[in-house]
Amino acid sequence: MGRAINTSNYDICIIGGGIIGLSTAFQLLQRFPRLRVAVVEKEDRLAVHQTGHNSGVIHSGIYYRPGSQKAQFCAGGVDSLVRFCDENEIPYERCGKVIVATDESELGRLDTLYERGTANGVPGLRMIGPEELAEVEPYARGIRALHSPATGIVDYTRVAYAYASRFDESGGVIYLDSRVLNITSRGDATILSTSSGDVSCRNVVNCAGLYSDRVAQMMGAPSPVQIVPFRGEYYTLKDESRDLVRTLIYPVPNPRFPFLGVHFTRNIHGHVEAGPNAVLAYAREGYRKSRINPGELASTLTFRGFWSMSRRNWKIGLGEMHRSLSRRIFLKDLQRLVPAVQNKDLAPGGAGVRAQAVDRNGALLDDFNIWQTAGAIHVLNAPSPGATSSISIGQHIVGLAAENFGLDG
Ligand SMILES: Cc1cc2nc3c(=O)[nH]c(=O)nc-3n(C[C@H](O)[C@H](O)[C@H](O)COP(=O)(O)OP(=O)(O)OC[C@H]3O[C@@H](n4cnc5c(N)ncnc54)[C@H](O)[C@@H]3O)c2cc1C
Repeated sequence: MGRAINTSNYDICIIGGGIIGLSTAFQLLQRFPRLRVAVVEKEDRLAVHQTGHNSGVIHSGIYYRPGSQKAQFCAGGVDSLVRFCDENEIPYERCGKVIVATDESELGRLDTLYERGTANGVPGLRMIGPEELAEVEPYARGIRALHSPATGIVDYTRVAYAYASRFDESGGVIYLDSRVLNITSRGDATILSTSSGDVSCRNVVNCAGLYSDRVAQMMGAPSPVQIVPFRGEYYTLKDESRDLVRTLIYPVPNPRFPFLGVHFTRNIHGHVEAGPNAVLAYAREGYRKSRINPGELASTLTFRGFWSMSRRNWKIGLGEMHRSLSRRIFLKDLQRLVPAVQNKDLAPGGAGVRAQAVDRNGALLDDFNIWQTAGAIHVLNAPSPGATSSISIGQHIVGLAAENFGLDG
């Protein structure tokens, strides 16, 4: 792993060493062992962006419109992920989760989630009342809740490294510290000019997450969407307050927004996180409020879709910004779910940035979006449950590659 670039000519280069790129990589070699495949990653480690900055939840498939790719890939993805973890001795826990309605106005939406989850085949999904909720989560308060015992937790960085090991063992090559800066064609070959030298290949799979639209543009394929980065900020419950949360406690989400609302998550390392919110980041890798990348911010502000999106969602957007700036408001939202949580229980936590694709009309793409051009496959939208679904998404991309790239075993 992490070799110096040589001039080899690869059949396929995968740009991006996150969980989707690595899942695609190991499954490509599993199905087509004779291929020469390389993963090209700009950082000095794998999985440091979305894959290493998420909530670590193994989603069970409740939220997604039946028939959508999210519903399909999540349903198949959970089983494959859990099997992979068993085979590779990666710790995970099926701890279960509750989605809590705190007033009457949320009951209709909770019913819709129950119907969706049932249609998606989520195992063991049940509506429970306040008494049963108190048995599952003694400090949560609500008038009704949806209980999903199959939801779990895992460390996705660890999963991504295990995918990388499988790929490495099958003869795949990973180049770290190699940012793709430019892509050109020379006869049949595609040349990736990277910060550590050129790599030549026949076909490309673009799994560049927060930069996937930029990579598509480098290939002369003006992407139909633009990535708008949304930061998700977390607080952590202090060690002495962790008992307030046993498993995962979620609110009923706003159906107009593709994010799930601030929630409590006990992660696989035993810490309890509260968040994430969703605020516009002023840099694609803007993990801190103060981080501004003028060029990237300008490209968001000059994108027509951004303004249409803002006009449609200004109220939600303002609310999110307000909550980001005010710990008091963040706490108030958390107290709707767990009234006992107090300011003294919270410590500042980390943050992740979501690569949210937005189209020119300002619609936030809800479903996964995988776009094909001649000789290339671009993963343009892989939001949550992308990590849960990573094996299914990788398998799907391998199927597309077999046709688009004319692969034979
Ligand atoms: C806050 C947050 C919470 C989430 N919670 C969950 C959850 O609980 N459960 C779940 O299933 N999913 C969750 N998700 C979604 C999940 O994390 C993503 O779906 C998944 O990580 C996407 O993986 P990826 O490989 O596409 O992207 P990434 O992990 O971002 O990987 C992309 C890689 O491409 C590299 N790259 C970019 N540009 C270049 C370039 N020019 N040259 C070379 N390399 C490049 C980057 O350095 C990066 O390593 C969450 C996401 C966020 C942000």
